Amino acid sequence: MLKYNGRYGEYGGAYVPDVLAKPLERLANEFDRLTKDPSFQKEFVHLLKHYVGRPSPLYRAKRLSEQVGSTIYLKREDLNHTGAHKINNTIGQVLVAKHMGATEIIAETGAGQHGVATATAAALMGIPCKVFMGAKDAERQALNVRRMKLLGAEVVTTTMGTATLKDAVDAALMYYIEHPESFYLLGSQVGPHPYPRMVGYFQSVIGNEAREQILMQEGRLPNAIFACVGGGSNAIGLFSGFLDDVEVEIYGAEGGGEAIPGNTAATLTFGKPTVFQGTLSYCLVDDNGNPCESHSVAAGLDYPGISPQHAYLKDTSRAKYFAVTDTEAIKAFEMLSQLEGIIPAIESSHAVALAAKMLKNKNQLAIVNLSGRGDKDVEREF
Ligand SMILES: *Cc1c(COP(=O)(O)O)cnc(C)c1O
Repeated sequence: MLKYNGRYGEYGGAYVPDVLAKPLERLANEFDRLTKDPSFQKEFVHLLKHYVGRPSPLYRAKRLSEQVGSTIYLKREDLNHTGAHKINNTIGQVLVAKHMGATEIIAETGAGQHGVATATAAALMGIPCKVFMGAKDAERQALNVRRMKLLGAEVVTTTMGTATLKDAVDAALMYYIEHPESFYLLGSQVGPHPYPRMVGYFQSVIGNEAREQILMQEGRLPNAIFACVGGGSNAIGLFSGFLDDVEVEIYGAEGGGEAIPGNTAATLTFGKPTVFQGTLSYCLVDDNGNPCESHSVAAGLDYPGISPQHAYLKDTSRAKYFAVTDTEAIKAFEMLSQLEGIIPAIESSHAVALAAKMLKNKNQLAIVNLSGRGDKDVEREF
């Protein structure tokens, strides 16, 4: 039996049209081969160090800790080049694309964060890049569109449907079906096999570093770790370093919106197992069981699907997931800015909020993944 069949319990798999089965199988095989290739490893580690700026610090947030009544360390993914964890994955996948001889990178983006991280990695490697984006999103995210273009990417807007992320995914998939020789670079731990495994692998650097750093700095493992969960990539990155340490409690903070059905992005809290965009996992659905729209103040968490590995971790109770409301996240956004002089991404603020709530006066040792910086959120009126 294959060691990895793309399943996490019953979840995962590859539910794709026949034309994509072959390219995805080739990708899975190439990825498996490359993970065993020392020169590939060396190249990836080199770029993480000298281009991304890793290892990212594990910072003891003293004033936050005092306020909460537990010792809280922040894993500073916000200090990476381009300001978030997404670059770990785009560098990894662009390297895979280069080794596969791909002549074009394609990606889709909602708020533009993944588009910018992809355009950055593509520029670094000198591979042409097309980023698909809903026309409405492109208008709302003009700065990120400018960034992508400056980085040499072509931004392809679509007016299909509601002209947002879901339509950008459809447009990118249509293009991929017509051009299966291009490399589809996925931004989160979602989609068909081998993407969840590949994204989890490239992001695992977060948890591996954090585990080593906390042992160095505190001489022991944390009682609990926290991360926000959109598609699930920064969370799985941190969690994967601690999955085998059964004494470490693992918490995921979902984009709760108003934390009611119809106004939430908390997929694991309110969703149902459903096949969505190539994989079997939880998904937010309407009364007829069809995937429906999500709502969250954080664009990066505003997605109706979720990684199949998180679905499995939820069902097996290895990790626990909670819906954090927009209001709670905004409060944490301001709290961390004022207590630590660190403006977190509104996505990451969900993890800070959940940690502050769960750790209140518990005298615990914890790590919170600060997935990104909040410059992009400063101009918003919350
Ligand atoms: C994209 C993004 C997220 C959500 O994506 P995951 O795949 O769930 O990690 C979280 N934080 C930041 C800063 C992001 O840019």
